[in-house]
Amino acid sequence: MIIVPEKVIPNLIDRTTSYNAVEAVFGAMSRGDAYNFPVIREDIGYADALYGFKSGFDKAGLSLGLKSGGYWPGNEAKGLTNHQSSIFLFNADTGQVKAIVGGNYLTAVRTAAASSVSIQHLARKDSKVLGMIGAGHQSAFQMRAAVEQRNFEKVIGWNYHPEMLSRLADVAEELDLPFEAVSLDELGAQADVIISITSSFAPILMAAQVKPGTHIACMGTDTKGKQEVESALVAKATVFTDEIAQSITIGECQHAIAEGLITEGQINEIGAVINGTHAGRTSDDEITLFDGTGVGLQDLAAATAAVELAIASGDAIEIDV
Ligand code: NAD
Repeated sequence: MIIVPEKVIPNLIDRTTSYNAVEAVFGAMSRGDAYNFPVIREDIGYADALYGFKSGFDKAGLSLGLKSGGYWPGNEAKGLTNHQSSIFLFNADTGQVKAIVGGNYLTAVRTAAASSVSIQHLARKDSKVLGMIGAGHQSAFQMRAAVEQRNFEKVIGWNYHPEMLSRLADVAEELDLPFEAVSLDELGAQADVIISITSSFAPILMAAQVKPGTHIACMGTDTKGKQEVESALVAKATVFTDEIAQSITIGECQHAIAEGLITEGQINEIGAVINGTHAGRTSDDEITLFDGTGVGLQDLAAATAAVELAIASGDAIEIDV
């Protein structure tokens, strides 16, 4: 069995590797070669923690396993990240455990890869302004991955906690792009691509604020009750997602579905666009929206890539079981 410790992973996996792994698994899901098992997420009644599993099997990439972890709100006071996860991979031929891989950094890069895949396949080619809603831990990863997909000339941002906007300014500077903090009205009026990555439970971005032709990647809503954009905006857009079952239960589409504004049949798989079985964006005026709910197969794909890289670099710890 192989162990890939959390601390070696940032130096192992790059954005191209995680992009390719995530794009491939979305395509496999849409072909029916890969599927996610039902998600388990429980309030364990201890340390205010939410704990659960995301799991699945990719017959094409031969990734079988699970990500286990959750959210411990008291961790920050202990100098630890609140979100904690580990990924377990199994041999698909024998069921033997193959690897244990740190899941914290991989979660951020695989989530950024998902919105980046959506931008590559759905945003207008001439997109120039990137709008960021959210300035937490994930936002930096999101921005770095997004700017690789289009020739953005400027980043604008809004956050519920304005004091956190310096993170976006710092990352934009690192990427050599000008950054401006703006109102939500200005963000919607200027941005060609918008990424929302917050833990909001109420809509932030309204339908009337978004201009025609925008691509929106809603990445923060991964739990029942969370919401980042007005349901009317979901209804106005051509909607894509990683997995329809998650989109309507724990993703951004849960609200538009519950309000009867859209039907499940109106939600398209991003994998179909990747595979060429859905045209994706069909006009420059169309608003496209990607509901990135975060599936276990993304974690398995990223972890499988990390194991291969760790073996090649000598960072993998091998133990007999
Ligand atoms: P974080 O705690 O570092 O940052 C939280 C962000 O949400 C900040 O921008 C904060 O200002 C904002 N926020 C907090 N309360 C808010 C409110 N009431 N209204 C509006 N905004 C509010 O979190 P993070 O690690 O950056 O994660 C952000 C979100 O992304 C979380 O909801 C997390 O569960 C989700 N997430 C999704 C995936 C996926 O695959 N889709 C993966 C990882 C994380």
